[in-house]
Amino acid sequence: MRDLFIDLHTHSSVSDGTEPPAALIRAAVGAGLDVVALTDHDTTAGWAEATAAASEAPITLIPGLELSTRIGYRSVHVLGYLVDPTDAALVAETARIRERRMSRARRMVDRIGADHPLTWEDVLDQARPGATIGRPHIADALVQRGLATDRSAAFRGILHPSSGYYEPHDAPDPVAGVALIKQAGGVPVIAHPAASTRGIAIDEERLRDLVDAGLGGLEVDHRENQSAGKRTLMEWADRYGLFITGSSDYHGTGKPNRLGEHRTGPRVFERIVAEARGASVVVGPGARTTG
Ligand code: AMP
Ligand code: ZN
Ligand code: FE
Ligand code: FE
Repeated sequence: MRDLFIDLHTHSSVSDGTEPPAALIRAAVGAGLDVVALTDHDTTAGWAEATAAASEAPITLIPGLELSTRIGYRSVHVLGYLVDPTDAALVAETARIRERRMSRARRMVDRIGADHPLTWEDVLDQARPGATIGRPHIADALVQRGLATDRSAAFRGILHPSSGYYEPHDAPDPVAGVALIKQAGGVPVIAHPAASTRGIAIDEERLRDLVDAGLGGLEVDHRENQSAGKRTLMEWADRYGLFITGSSDYHGTGKPNRLGEHRTGPRVFERIVAEARGASVVVGPGARTTG
């Protein structure tokens, strides 16, 4: 029998993807996935809708999130699978991060609005109520206003860190982020660690701290990871007993990433399920769970 087809990193319109969670689940079934994780930025608000959709479809859902953390100016994303969504510390920290994302986006839009016809209302018009706000929503508003041709063009232009309009948003340190996910019963994985052309955002000493805090794995197969960095990540995974994942980081029509363009092995899926304490996978009718 063929291996399970597993993609552990996707975004819905509950953060900065373009499809609601139920449509994302349908798209995952359409792409032939057996297992999909929903990992919206800093929120679990899409879990209920995704769970309802996966309960009626031949697919297994791993509810998760992608937690924003940072080291100085550099952002580091930590995927958290099967956390307890009611964990008080996790609820409080994600709410704080979403607020900081919102005020940062407002400041960026104020600066952009001084030079271009763009308002905060334009941005809110592009986001589902309660969505985790990010640059993608500003990008969509720029497109709507005819100031960019698509999201990616906006990211290369007005939203680029070198544009003068950019600022980072505040977020906890990655070690605190990993510990937060771990204590909420989840399995933490560093997302696209080698995505930056400036090299891996964490050094080996910091990695050891992350491992001590409960890190489970590294997302090695991701379209943005640079090949030199990937080799280092594989060595680290070997050295510290971490598992490696591959995923799409699908954002609907907002990014070129296609569902299942990178995949995760079935043993890793089993390990995540075995290590998680905070939530359960949702196995839809007719879903394949063994290879
Ligand atoms: P922010 O977190 O607000 O700084 O925005 C960065 C986020 O935008 C990342 O999570 C990216 O995955 C996401 N994103 C969505 N669409 C695009 C795109 N077309 N180009 C670059 N980043 C994108
Ligand atoms: Zn995103
Ligand atoms: Fe990310
Ligand atoms: Fe992501």
